[in-house]
Amino acid sequence: MQAEYDSHNIFARILRGELPCFKVYEDADTIAFLDIMPQSDGHTLVVPKEPAVDLFGLSGQAAAAAIRATQIVARGVRETFGPDGVVISQFNGAAAGQTVPHVHFHIVPRYADQALRGHAREQQSMEVLRAHAERLAATLAKQGA
Ligand code: AMP
Repeated sequence: MQAEYDSHNIFARILRGELPCFKVYEDADTIAFLDIMPQSDGHTLVVPKEPAVDLFGLSGQAAAAAIRATQIVARGVRETFGPDGVVISQFNGAAAGQTVPHVHFHIVPRYADQALRGHAREQQSMEVLRAHAERLAATLAKQGA
C-alpha cells in the first residue's frame, strides 16, 4: 500500500525554496540540511528530491542516490563534530516515529557522555544552527563533496 504524497509538507516546501533551511549539501537527487530540533549537535537530514512519503514509495535510483549522499554527508558530520559514533535512521509511518511525510534519512552524531535530546522536541537557536551549518558545509566543500 502506497501512502499518498502531500506536496504541501514542510520538506516539499523547503525543496521548492518556499521555506528556509540550513543547507549543507546538494546534488542532482538530494539535499541535506540541519535538523532544527536536533537530537544532538550536528543532527543532519538527507532528503531525496523525488516526491515520496517514505522509503517504500522511493524509486530504486533515488534510494541509491540518497544512501550515497547520506554516506558523503555522514563523513562530513564525523569530521566536523568528532562524535564517538554516528546513527543513521529513517522512519516509515507515524507508528515508526515519522513526523514529516517526505522520505528522509537522519544522521545523528552520538557523544559518549551525552544523552540524546527528544525527537522533534526542542528548537535549537538560529545562531548555533547557523554556526554548525557553516562548519559542516566548509568540511564537505573541503572533502570535495
Ligand atoms: P521524522 O520524525 O523522521 O519525520 O523527522 C522529521 C525531522 O524533521 C525531525 O527530527 C524534526 O526535528 C525535523 N524538522 C521539522 N521541521 C523542520 C524544518 N523546518 N527544518 C529542519 N528540520 C525540521
